[in-house]
Amino acid sequence: MKIAVLPGDGIGPEIVAQAVKVLKALASDGMKIELEQAHIGGAGYDAAGDPLPEATMKLAQDSDAVLLGAVGGWQYDTLPRPMRPEQGLLRIRKGMGVFANLRPALLYPELASASTLKPEVVSGLDIMIVRELTGDIYFGQPRGIQLNENGEREGINTMRYSESEIRRIAKVGYEIAMKRNRKLCSVDKANVLETTELWREIVTVMNKDYPDVELSHMYVDNAAMQLVRAPKQFDVMITGNIFGDILSDEASMLTGSIGMLPSASLDACNKGLYEPSHGSAPDIAGQDIANPLATILSAAMMLRYTFNNEESATRVENAVKKVLAQGYRTVDIYTEGTRKTSCSEMGDAVVKNL
Ligand code: NAD
Repeated sequence: MKIAVLPGDGIGPEIVAQAVKVLKALASDGMKIELEQAHIGGAGYDAAGDPLPEATMKLAQDSDAVLLGAVGGWQYDTLPRPMRPEQGLLRIRKGMGVFANLRPALLYPELASASTLKPEVVSGLDIMIVRELTGDIYFGQPRGIQLNENGEREGINTMRYSESEIRRIAKVGYEIAMKRNRKLCSVDKANVLETTELWREIVTVMNKDYPDVELSHMYVDNAAMQLVRAPKQFDVMITGNIFGDILSDEASMLTGSIGMLPSASLDACNKGLYEPSHGSAPDIAGQDIANPLATILSAAMMLRYTFNNEESATRVENAVKKVLAQGYRTVDIYTEGTRKTSCSEMGDAVVKNL
């Protein structure tokens, strides 16, 4: 199992180091893994003048899976757009052909009080958001800023989805729903946008191949509202790139801290890019206080989805549950009466509980 390790920027190196500790602990128990590190994002720009250096892309393509920290930092915000760290992220996703982003929002009972919603609204929450990742308005052409006929500047972006793109993400959604509670909610804006009218039509037709899955449709504005009103009505949600970007961040907050939420991005053969849902948190970088659990849980998703190693994935997830039960808390999830824990201490505690 070859894993490319791309720490990136900000808190990336600190949190990835903890996930690597966990993988190495599993390796010392006999799991065969090979880890190789490379630069991405601002670190890629600093090292090679490119947020996705060629060597990094090659390593990602030669590996079975990629474990990524996060990219971005204020010092890069004035660079020309193609040189900005986020471009490295968009390009590696595109280059690896990962089109399905899986973002679980799971509320650990110990952290119910960290949510801003009432405990009875969120306790027992377990949602999987499946977001399409390589199409939609983020990639559609034409795009840009140009002068219009009145001599005024106008910004242009284009929302597009082809039938095959919709079909392949819907398939992922249906298959995941089959492994969970068999409820799939497709989120669109079919009342206004033709792109998502096509989305709705194709998802509906595919329900014939998955008759055991209860399919529903919801407009994105309602979905945003329902996520905070009654989030437990959802099991699996599928949606396009821009709606998924926003809804998955919203869902993450239901669980209290973005520092707890892993993600997986898969291609058609389950090769994957695994990363925490949060960014590079430059405000707390270098202080050894970031929460590494989202990254450690991303490594667990890697074991499950790419390496098909359910046993090791569950071992890691159970170790995380145990450290929470033992009261270990990084500052973002700290409450009175629990143990304030640094990023590296949290990594050590997970390893001890494996
Ligand atoms: P962010 O997710 O980095 O941070 C938002 C807030 O959450 C901050 O207060 C931060 O301290 C906190 N936070 C995030 N992760 C945490 C963790 N593991 N433990 C404890 N606290 C944590 O989002 P932002 O501030 O909007 O963006 C910062 C930079 O990250 C920007 O350059 C942005 O472009 C980039 N970014 C990268 C990704 C990615 O790499 N996937 C995603 C989002 C943002």
